[in-house]
Amino acid sequence: MDPSLPRFQKAHGKSEAEIRRRILQAIFEMRLPPGERLTEEQLAETFDVSRTVVRQAIARLAQDGILVKMPNIGTTVAAPTRKETRDILAVRKMVEPDIVRMLAAGPVGGGLDRLHAHLAKEKAARNSDDRGTLVRLTGEFHLLLAEVAANDVLTRLMTGLQTLTCLAILLYAEQDKACPPDEHSRIVNAIAEGNGETAAREMLRHLKHVEADLKLDGEDKASNFSETMAWLRGA
Ligand SMILES: [Zn+2]
Repeated sequence: MDPSLPRFQKAHGKSEAEIRRRILQAIFEMRLPPGERLTEEQLAETFDVSRTVVRQAIARLAQDGILVKMPNIGTTVAAPTRKETRDILAVRKMVEPDIVRMLAAGPVGGGLDRLHAHLAKEKAARNSDDRGTLVRLTGEFHLLLAEVAANDVLTRLMTGLQTLTCLAILLYAEQDKACPPDEHSRIVNAIAEGNGETAAREMLRHLKHVEADLKLDGEDKASNFSETMAWLRGA
């Protein structure tokens, strides 16, 4: 990352939820890499808010496993190990086929319009070769499915899982790939046709492709930062 570039645009008086949303967007666009250190001062200045508001946003993101807080060290963006990444994808394969099966059983109201509008944005980003936006949009597609299902618990779960998957892609993918083309539209078409089994099968197939693009074999050789610190403390 070029340190001379500002990480975020200066934003005035953001709410805690807005700060969380911007941090997630930055991770989705691969502007905030795994292991990156964040400070309360830096975030408070960037968002033009008090450190109390920043602290709340950090606490919530830490609860979801997206940021990692360590005493005397500070807050870093999570860096999932290979084992954690395999676990995350295992849970996604359990949960996401059921999300789309549920959506296909309907009714989803204006949800289908939102999904189609999202696919159009993905297509535009793909056509204009806008990598950052495309990677973010393909990640957000999976959150939108949970949002359309109108289940807040599911949305929160998927936010954690999807964000950690984005970070794992930066660590373990041979190239920073977005989701493969056409697979999202196959899923949406099956939902539109009310065909839950097809939607679930397409989602599972899609997640297996996402997993296949990652090098997850073998042990985690380099221990992560928190493990190293624990070792240094003699824990
Ligand atoms: Zn996808």
